[in-house]
Amino acid sequence: MNKRSPHQAYLVRVQDIIDLSPNLRRLVLHSDELVDYPHQFNGAHIKIFLASAEQTTPQLPQFSGHGFKWGDPDNKPIVRTYTIRDYDAQACTVSIDFVKHGDNGPASAFAEHARAGDIIGISSPGGPNPMLKAATRYLFVGDITALPAIASLLSDIEQEACGDVVLLLPDASDLPTTLNLPTNMQLHTFYGSLSQIPALIEKVSGFPPLCADDFAWVAGEAEMVRPLRDLLRNQWQLPPQRHYAVPYWRHGETEESYHEARHRFIEK
Ligand SMILES: Cc1cc2nc3c(=O)[nH]c(=O)nc-3n(C[C@H](O)[C@H](O)[C@H](O)COP(=O)(O)OP(=O)(O)OC[C@H]3O[C@@H](n4cnc5c(N)ncnc54)[C@H](O)[C@@H]3O)c2cc1C
Repeated sequence: MNKRSPHQAYLVRVQDIIDLSPNLRRLVLHSDELVDYPHQFNGAHIKIFLASAEQTTPQLPQFSGHGFKWGDPDNKPIVRTYTIRDYDAQACTVSIDFVKHGDNGPASAFAEHARAGDIIGISSPGGPNPMLKAATRYLFVGDITALPAIASLLSDIEQEACGDVVLLLPDASDLPTTLNLPTNMQLHTFYGSLSQIPALIEKVSGFPPLCADDFAWVAGEAEMVRPLRDLLRNQWQLPPQRHYAVPYWRHGETEESYHEARHRFIEK
């Protein structure tokens, strides 16, 4: 039984650095305090707090009903959103898979240059609970930022599940060999840049429409998610509780510059 407040932040240290593929790096983050981390399922999202250039340890927020409260508002850390790929209560670790897209973003740069012992903050998990709804047929669509969530959700899905998994990955070597794909689920892969999005959308549009007993989970770059949500909602008439369609990032925009537009899209 968890006694902690569900809204809490933790300072964690990089314990292990595992290169999963050329574009994906797993950081295993440790703190003794994670022993009673309010984890419920892998694939939930969390905020990470990164120290600014002048600091080695980020300030952690307090949680108010309206988001974060900062003790020292002039010294806020950089905040980004990531996915819990794994939680190990015995080892007191949380693992996050970071896309290495270069030094152009603080989170990607942190992952690229991480060394054992580096300190970041993580929040307790948020997002829909459960994220995966029981369904007759499933559809998962994502780019490499959504791969950690899709891989996590597939590892929890019943082995009789059927449906389709559609992935857009930078390179064939980014496809995990350990993906727990039930026998009755088909995997469809697209490799390369965002220029593959139209082909991916054409593929998904050709699937038989999902219906109200089914469930669709879509996340990734905004220009991929927008037309797919339109397909799910307007063409296939899937009710809101039968699909999750969230833009995880937008090409050319930082998490800060895209934040408001993302929330407007999600709330629409
Ligand atoms: C619920 C949720 C869960 C997420 N889970 C994960 C996860 O587990 N792993 C993960 O890697 N990402 C995940 N993301 C996406 C991640 O939050 C964004 O990619 C974020 O912008 C990365 O921050 P940054 O500091 O590296 O780059 P930013 O400072 O935000 O952006 C700097 C520049 O990099 C570009 N950029 C950002 N992300 C990418 C990318 N993936 N590829 C190429 N260019 C990019 C931006 O467009 C911008 O031009 C998740 C997002 C959400 C909303």
